[in-house]
Amino acid sequence: KEEINHYRNLNNISVVGRHIPEPAKTFDDFNVDQDIIDNLRKCGYEEPTPIQKQAVPLMLQGRQILGCAPTGSGKTAAFLVPIIQALQGPRRDGFRAIILCPTRELAKQTQRECLKLSEGRDFRYGAKSSKKFGKDMLKMKHAAINILVYTRNMISDILITTPNRICFLLKQDPPAISLSNIQWLVIDEADKLFETGSRGFWDQLSEILNACDGESRKIAMFSATYTPAVAKWCVHNMKGLVRVTVGQRNS
Ligand code: ADP
Ligand code: MG
Repeated sequence: KEEINHYRNLNNISVVGRHIPEPAKTFDDFNVDQDIIDNLRKCGYEEPTPIQKQAVPLMLQGRQILGCAPTGSGKTAAFLVPIIQALQGPRRDGFRAIILCPTRELAKQTQRECLKLSEGRDFRYGAKSSKKFGKDMLKMKHAAINILVYTRNMISDILITTPNRICFLLKQDPPAISLSNIQWLVIDEADKLFETGSRGFWDQLSEILNACDGESRKIAMFSATYTPAVAKWCVHNMKGLVRVTVGQRNS
């Protein structure tokens, strides 16, 4: 116990919650499949960053977390590694993980990192760009083919995109995506997503959450800064929440 606390202090990690696993000191301590560790090393990473040390073991246990760590501290891999480990490989079950990003650019960046860390596993990423999707949809309507049939047959595992896009797909009649098999919903850069001030993102998030109606849906929220409003949302919506903060609380 003493030693674990000392190690957390050394890494500037603070935690709030029950039964929190020991932080990993090395990638091997993650206890994930060897190819994921090899992929991390191929990226040039030598050891986990503090947020990765604590967030990865938690998410591997299926714990819902709010992770706050400064920009550039490796939050992306902190949630990608446990998701890749959990999903294992491609399946025809539709999306099993969603990563919400504030912009398309960040979504593309996150997808690039996911491709690297899951190299060799062949995951599919959805979905088509809105424009292309819209065009296909028109064609489908002309052909009188149900859109759901079309998207259900799309092999897809991980959806990395903006809330706007998911809400657009959900609003189609019938909905153009099913989120019933979602195991992990990650809200990345939460401070930026909630920043808008308007009710915008809060409403979108509850729409998305409602659509993720599977039994094993878990949420992980990541943010560069600790925001009381975000923390409050997490307390209300994430059972057994664990908070992990790296560095200064309000830096
Ligand atoms: P954040 O989301 O916290 O702002 P990123 O996930 O974008 O940070 O990572 C910032 C940079 O650190 C990226 O270039 C990424 O490739 C790199 N990085 C991530 N994990 C590690 C690691 N364990 N060791 C070294 N560099 C890492
Ligand atoms: Mg980030």
